[in-house]
Amino acid sequence: MISVLENMDRCIGCSACAQRCPIQCISMADDHEGFLVPHIDAGRCHDCGLCRKVCPVLKADAETSESNQATDYPRAWAAWSLDDTVRLESSSGGLFSLLAESCLSRGGTVFGAAFDQDFMVRHIGIEQPSELDSLRRSKYVQSDINRCYKEAERLLKEQKPVLFSGTGCQIAGLKTFLGKPYPELLTVDLACYGVPSPKVWSLYLEDMKKRFKSEIESISFRDKKNGWKNYCMHIRFRNGRSYRDAAVKDTFFIGFGKNLFSRKCCYSCQFRHPHTRADLTLADFWGAEELGIVHGQDDKGISLVIANTARGQAALEDIRDRCFLKETSFQEAAAKNPRLTVSAPMPRARTLFFKDLNSGMHFSALKRKYMNRFVQNLKLMARRMLGSGMVDRLRKLIRG
Ligand SMILES: Cc1cc2nc3c(=O)[nH]c(=O)nc-3n(C[C@H](O)[C@H](O)[C@H](O)COP(=O)(O)OP(=O)(O)OC[C@H]3O[C@@H](n4cnc5c(N)ncnc54)[C@H](O)[C@@H]3O)c2cc1C
Repeated sequence: MISVLENMDRCIGCSACAQRCPIQCISMADDHEGFLVPHIDAGRCHDCGLCRKVCPVLKADAETSESNQATDYPRAWAAWSLDDTVRLESSSGGLFSLLAESCLSRGGTVFGAAFDQDFMVRHIGIEQPSELDSLRRSKYVQSDINRCYKEAERLLKEQKPVLFSGTGCQIAGLKTFLGKPYPELLTVDLACYGVPSPKVWSLYLEDMKKRFKSEIESISFRDKKNGWKNYCMHIRFRNGRSYRDAAVKDTFFIGFGKNLFSRKCCYSCQFRHPHTRADLTLADFWGAEELGIVHGQDDKGISLVIANTARGQAALEDIRDRCFLKETSFQEAAAKNPRLTVSAPMPRARTLFFKDLNSGMHFSALKRKYMNRFVQNLKLMARRMLGSGMVDRLRKLIRG
């Protein structure tokens, strides 16, 4: 079988190869873990090599391991939107929405991840502020880029403003796909824990629909009813029922937190800082209070915004009057957010998990075996006891 990469475990699924192929002989299809991978029609392929030329993984291999950032960057800020509605409706502090509004107001197009009618995650381009909510909030599932690179290229060639947002690897894919800089392009990536399998997500959704005996009306991975720090999975069903559970207790989040079903390439991501290709990076600013960067917070959400280029910084200047911004050191912020710079290790249970899943183990059995809420609660309790010094006190008591 012909393939773009020798080792397909390294493929990020960006589909730059499929979108660039001049004779459309590459199609994207699910692999056995539910992630999109390219399939080349060997009978039609002319071996022109364009697919390899636009592959961000091969491009990153060919580059030095040095950071490609200018010496003035990265610069980091704690930030949030001054509009409370936007802030509360966003995962962190709502900086993405401000950047998107700024692009839309100039007649531009914003690309980002939205749910489709089945609540699977796909990239789309929007041109109206009324469509912005569909891109808002993190969807912790790998998004299908679709034909968005091609569409962005068409707009950029017409000198229209484009904001393209996505994970670091998706932005790297866009950049190699385009092959040259465009003055009207602003790219935004996210600190990324890893992208979970769409196949596992669809099993979770089926399980929820069965449990609540209804189709789904809406989903938020980052509901802030109990605050930004205690964010919840919130699913509303068409029959009027609703499910809201803390991320630390929700089955899907437990698996995500264990990094059980992220794409294989995520465990050795080539596109984290300092290798990001984006102008701006957005993240949750966990620990901003402990660092003394902000005081007396209201738990509505704090973004960490990192300018990686002068263009990124200029975009921040554009929205300055609509957000709170306080500069901090990148090193300090990154120390509180390890996923900015370091990939999570692959858990040993991952291989067995997908083996069980593909051998037909029922989702309820997978839940019991790998995403057990009871075990998770015990771990949480133990962590809290450790944190409060209770274990030490108990030990001292036992020793007398
Ligand atoms: C898979 C994933 C893992 C993440 N891991 C971390 C982490 O470990 N630490 C951390 O601090 N932050 C992480 N983030 C980023 C964080 O959750 C927020 O998205 C970010 O802080 C921006 O928040 P906001 O309030 O500015 O805007 P929001 O409106 O919340 O952000 C929405 C933005 O996220 C993009 N987006 C949403 N879902 C996806 C997706 N599946 N794929 C690509 N782009 C998507 C949208 O296109 C839009 O640009 C992750 C995000 C994703 C999608």
